Order: sequence, then structure tokens, then C-alpha cells
Amino acid sequence: MFKYCPTCNSKNIKFVQENYFNCSDCDFIYYHNVASAVAAIIVYKGKILFTTRAQSPGIGLLDLPGGFVDPNETLEQALSREIKEELGVTINSWQYMCSQPNTYRPNKIEYRTLDSVFYSEQKSTLNFELQETEIREISWIRPEQIDFDNIAFSSIKAALKHYLEEVLYTPPTSR
Ligand SMILES: [Zn+2]
Repeated sequence: MFKYCPTCNSKNIKFVQENYFNCSDCDFIYYHNVASAVAAIIVYKGKILFTTRAQSPGIGLLDLPGGFVDPNETLEQALSREIKEELGVTINSWQYMCSQPNTYRPNKIEYRTLDSVFYSEQKSTLNFELQETEIREISWIRPEQIDFDNIAFSSIKAALKHYLEEVLYTPPTSR
């Protein structure tokens, strides 16, 4: 990310312990902290909504709707905003499920993210209006028919496995 120190132009800048840049020739230090992101499992009549990515990374692969959290936003606000932007629908009832770490590299900069995953069961049909720059299409997939090899990110695979094992197939008495 930095070849030279942005303060003194020294080449002696190092990326330390996967989270900060440190220049040994001046006091420059920059924490490249883990970024907060959200993803949504939207369920209707037992099927899960997947998006097909229209952008790198993972272009053409399946994903869940979501994205990065903006400054001053809650996780739930970020989810509702991303869903509105990407799918053109309003969903405000979110149930927190789990968090999963991920590595996201949209360009030359690699982001380490922590994806917070929520789910929401819909009672009625939704009228989608897709953000075509981000989403090629949507599909509703039964949990047992998910093709895990076709999913863009490891965090999303792990979250879906968590959903299947801990939310869907756990009898209410043992929750
Ligand atoms: Zn420096």
C-alpha cells in the first residue's frame, strides 16, 4: 500500500503484524485497521436471496447483499442502506447471527474485514430494482441446493454454513 513513507519519503516503511505501517526514519505510523462490513441473509418461503456479482473481486460468483459500514452508521443502518442501494427494497428488521473475518481486494489495496451477518425473514414478496453496476442478477436458492464452490467469499460461505447448522436445522428446544 505504501512504497514510501508519506511523511518523510523514506523507503524504510514496513507493514507490521498485518495491521500497521511504521516508518523507521520518522515517527509515521498508520493503522490499517479491520474494516466493518455487513451481509444479509434474506429469506422468503424457505429460500435464501443470493446476488450474482457484477464487479471484481468474485465477478460472476454468488454473494449475499451487503457492504462496508459508513462512518457514524450502526450495523443495522448499514444493512438497510446497502439493501436499498443494491436491491431497491426497504428492510428494517434484522436478526444478528454471527461475524466472520474476510479478506477483500477490490483493487491494489487489500482490506481485512469483519463481516457481521444478519438475517431477515420476509412475509411478502419484494419488488426489486437492482443496482446493475454491482449486481448482475438475483436468485432464490433452497438451503440444500447452495453450491458452496460458487460463492465469492470465505466469510459468506462460513456464514451460510452457520445459518444452516445453527439457525435452520437446530430444533427450537435445543437452541
Ligand atoms: Zn517516515
